[in-house]
Amino acid sequence: MYNDIVSFIQNLYPHKSTISLHEPLFIGNEKIYVNECIDSSFVSSVGHYVDRFEKEFAEYTGSRYAIATVNGTAALHISLILAGVARDDEVITQPLTFIATANAISYIGAKPIFLDVDLETMGLSPDALKHFLEQKCVITEGRCINRTTLKTIKACVPMHTFGHPCRIDEIKELCDKWHIALVEDAAESLGSTYKNKHTGTFGKLGTFSFNGNKIITSGGGGVIITDDETLALRAKHLTTTAKVPHKWEYIHDEIAYNYRLPNLNAALLCAQFEQLEVFLKNKRELSGEYQEFFASHDIAFVEEPKNSQSNYWLNAVILKDKNQRDEFLQCTNDNSVMTRPVWALMNKLELFKDCQCEDLTNALWLEERVVNLPSGVRL
Ligand SMILES: *Cc1c(COP(=O)(O)O)cnc(C)c1O
Repeated sequence: MYNDIVSFIQNLYPHKSTISLHEPLFIGNEKIYVNECIDSSFVSSVGHYVDRFEKEFAEYTGSRYAIATVNGTAALHISLILAGVARDDEVITQPLTFIATANAISYIGAKPIFLDVDLETMGLSPDALKHFLEQKCVITEGRCINRTTLKTIKACVPMHTFGHPCRIDEIKELCDKWHIALVEDAAESLGSTYKNKHTGTFGKLGTFSFNGNKIITSGGGGVIITDDETLALRAKHLTTTAKVPHKWEYIHDEIAYNYRLPNLNAALLCAQFEQLEVFLKNKRELSGEYQEFFASHDIAFVEEPKNSQSNYWLNAVILKDKNQRDEFLQCTNDNSVMTRPVWALMNKLELFKDCQCEDLTNALWLEERVVNLPSGVRL
């Protein structure tokens, strides 16, 4: 049966001997803009591609401000600082995510609390969140206090897994009620909307990544979006070493970060961004083909959740059990068709083993069964 799957995927990418999980594609103005950038000599901290990208990205997502960063992890780090997270605070997130989400929380000296995901969205479950807040937390002097640790829960970071939006409006309502700042890790969900609103625009701040494996790439890059002008100005300041604008003086008014996106990367990104609609359409067609194929093979294919439009960044199937998963991985990878299991749950990593976890039934179930399929845009 797996040989069937191998040949089906090989036929999806007929010109490739090795089929990777998500290869970038440069078929637009990438070389023109990058060359133009090199010729201008403005490859680093100054140049118009950064400004152009920020303006276009804000417009596209329907956000008032966008601040480009060196990568998605940096975007998350700064967003959490701006959400008010400080040392010894706590931040709610999901265990089923890429390490960047939990790392960014830890950079500040804050601790993640891992709550379960929904089976349908694979993102943070508002039911798990509600249960945890009602059973284990209390609001004292306008702060959400974790009754187990007596620490303040400052923020909540849901992630839109593989580009499929989680039930973000319900999460937002709970966060508002419990005085918790909502920061969306939308690294994987550029082009995905929930109830016709772009992911990343529900919270106080939203972050995206343009790493090489994402739907569009700048080699490395990220962006923060927000509707709040004060936060936007702070985000720019903190990501650019807090330099006070002046023609020649070097005045920095606080300890900050060198997290800006180089203009050279922004040039590549502007060209990639022009391709986004083409990529989204192409990927939706691909997911349609997978869906049809797996329906006739009695394997569950992950479809976009209700009320949402997914970018189908990474296609995935849910296999019957761990044994079937491992056979599937073995057979496809032996045949140069790259498939991958979902991440190991964050709470299982040695470095997060002391973090608070609640019931993680769904995350544990998915961890043993989910496999990602080749999902790159096809020529
Ligand atoms: C890619 C990704 C990030 C950011 O990664 P960078 O490599 O730092 O750009 C953050 N969170 C998730 C869930 C991701 O998939």
